[in-house]
Amino acid sequence: MSLNMRLQPDAMGSGLTSQRVRDRLVERLRANEIRDERVLRAIGAIPRHLFVDEALATRAYEDTALPIGHGQTISQPWVVARMTEAVLEVNPKKVLEIGTGSGYQATVLAALGLEVHTVERIGELLRAARKRFRQLGLNVRSKHDDGHAGWAENGPFDAILVTAGAAAIVDALIAQLAPGGTLIAPVGAASAQSLLQLRKDADGQVTRETLAPVVFVPLLPGVID
Ligand code: SAH
Repeated sequence: MSLNMRLQPDAMGSGLTSQRVRDRLVERLRANEIRDERVLRAIGAIPRHLFVDEALATRAYEDTALPIGHGQTISQPWVVARMTEAVLEVNPKKVLEIGTGSGYQATVLAALGLEVHTVERIGELLRAARKRFRQLGLNVRSKHDDGHAGWAENGPFDAILVTAGAAAIVDALIAQLAPGGTLIAPVGAASAQSLLQLRKDADGQVTRETLAPVVFVPLLPGVID
């Protein structure tokens, strides 16, 4: 797995978006028990400030979720890192994300050499994310749809990430998980969820584990422009 060279940081970053600031975020993640060097390297290389509004660019390397419009947020870097570590555990090739949002999580996965499929219900957010994928030279497959249905035509997937919270894991998504695959999703009440990791063994048996308490925006039905 190699990082796409186009993701290498340029020398143009201002003081608040520079490589030094990114490195500080990486050190913070490392201090908070993110261990996978591939994940840390990807997060250190990706210009997260390009995934938020210019007015928020100076906060892009804080370990915090930030608003991206339409009441949605770009996930906290620690949560992105933890979910990505969980995904990598199964040595995946093909990954499905539900909730493209800014496109940051999809970019981290693509930078790790994975074949990324991502679904977003808000058209305007998806268009902005696609622009970022193009700008960074990434080949991410994306679809404007209600992610409750997954993306059956392109499945099964070695890993599925749901980046919006729901009361329960969506059955259609478990069905699109390949044997030996893993699904990571925040499950629980609207204000706070548990990040769950499901694993499907070779016989299709599913086991689950709780990774961490998290807060995600809700998984909502239907699509909007
Ligand atoms: N992964 C994103 C952050 C996710 S925020 C990032 O890296 O920036 C959650 C996203 O899930 C929002 O953009 C929201 O519109 C989207 N979402 C919520 N319900 C959805 C559904 N049913 N199908 C697809 N996307 C959904």
